[in-house]
Amino acid sequence: MGTPKVSEVFQETACGHNQAKSEKDRKKGCTKVATPGAAAGGCAFDGAKIALQPIVDVAHLVHGPIACEGNSWDNRSALSSGARTYRTGFTTDMNEMDVVYGGEKHLFKAIRQIIERFDPPAVFLYQTCVPAIIGDDIEAVAKAATEKFGRPVIPVNAPGFVGGKNLGNKLAGEALLDHVIGTMEPEVTTSTDLNIIGEYNLSGELWQVKPLLDRLGIRISACISGDARYREVASSHRARAAMLVCSKAMINIARKMEERYGIPWFEGSFYGISDMSASLRNIAALLVSRGAPEDLVERTEALIAQEEKEAWASISRYKPALAGKRALLITGGVKSWSVVSALMEAGLVVVGTSVKKSTAEDKERIMELMGEDAHMIDTMTPREMYRMLKEAEADILMAGGRSQFVALKAKVPFLDVNQERRFAFAGYKGMETLISEIHRALTNPIFQTLREPAPWTSGCRLTPLV
Ligand code: SF4
Repeated sequence: MGTPKVSEVFQETACGHNQAKSEKDRKKGCTKVATPGAAAGGCAFDGAKIALQPIVDVAHLVHGPIACEGNSWDNRSALSSGARTYRTGFTTDMNEMDVVYGGEKHLFKAIRQIIERFDPPAVFLYQTCVPAIIGDDIEAVAKAATEKFGRPVIPVNAPGFVGGKNLGNKLAGEALLDHVIGTMEPEVTTSTDLNIIGEYNLSGELWQVKPLLDRLGIRISACISGDARYREVASSHRARAAMLVCSKAMINIARKMEERYGIPWFEGSFYGISDMSASLRNIAALLVSRGAPEDLVERTEALIAQEEKEAWASISRYKPALAGKRALLITGGVKSWSVVSALMEAGLVVVGTSVKKSTAEDKERIMELMGEDAHMIDTMTPREMYRMLKEAEADILMAGGRSQFVALKAKVPFLDVNQERRFAFAGYKGMETLISEIHRALTNPIFQTLREPAPWTSGCRLTPLV
């Protein structure tokens, strides 16, 4: 792995978190040593795969032992509106012979086989630990294969050992910047072409936002990378503006595209009603500043007014059933506060929200919404979470999939709001779905049954079957 690329990513100038560190800390990078016993949260390869696999029409070939692909394939529900190539797991499945003799020839053959059988517009080639350690040069293989087969073969050099998932996201961004973006020209361009960066279309969330943009006449030039096609990403350098979706993961793409192609960008979120509206306003203003029709601002305001009215009306329907119910929100980043207002509007009391991955601004917003006494949780051990749930300090836990077992053990409803979620929570419709799912979880009769004493502890005798 080229060390200069890793250091470059660590020096990302647009990342406020990174810039706030001392020179010494910055050199150490963005990775934290995992606490023994805690799940480490994915390696750099995993992060790169998460970031790029949503490009749906290309083949994603993992060069490494079978477990790397097995570990990373389909660990998120990124959806496609057409092409299915991204759903096929391709790997060189390296074995001991490759380790002894090198895996480059094997890799080259695998690329040939994929191109002949699947004919994708490009092959993304992922480096993993074992071939990186034995010195397989995937960049040289990608170059030779591109020349030989006349098809872009993109090296994604992020072997697991260089760091964590977040670093892998950024290295994936570097691969796009170095080998994909700007290599093709779009068939058409308009004054409202927009790039959306860092949105992965998990559970179809992009499709809850796209209809709104369609109504405003805004064209998504490329979504990097949810439901994306190779051509769209390759020609995304002609967009007029870009939105970086609530994530520092691909900030390097946004910044470098501004430097190289003059595309202005802002960071926004599609979670929460007020945030969705703010994002639409920012998109309209940026596009108008770049030559889009001026009435776009007015039309955006009209759409926001209508959508907000409908969303609040729909959410308030749940008020009688949800009033006073206590929710514990363990997520992070902007979601730590952006869904809080919708929860409060539905009558829920937020007893705590995690701020582990939140910025100072995020924390300020939490205090604005929940008051000075807002319970902000930096780290919460599963034991503490269990205690809170068991002692009925919360009626529902909203968190990532890993926490669900704590909730189930405490016999408390749980809703997955992180990346493995099965429901789309983006946009106005997403907030309505969120509240309706909370209602469904809280009123699920299974929890009442679970909390009742077991039949064998209450004197009830089971009749033996004869
Ligand atoms: S840490 Fe290395 S071996 Fe493990 S999954 Fe990641 S790339 Fe593969």
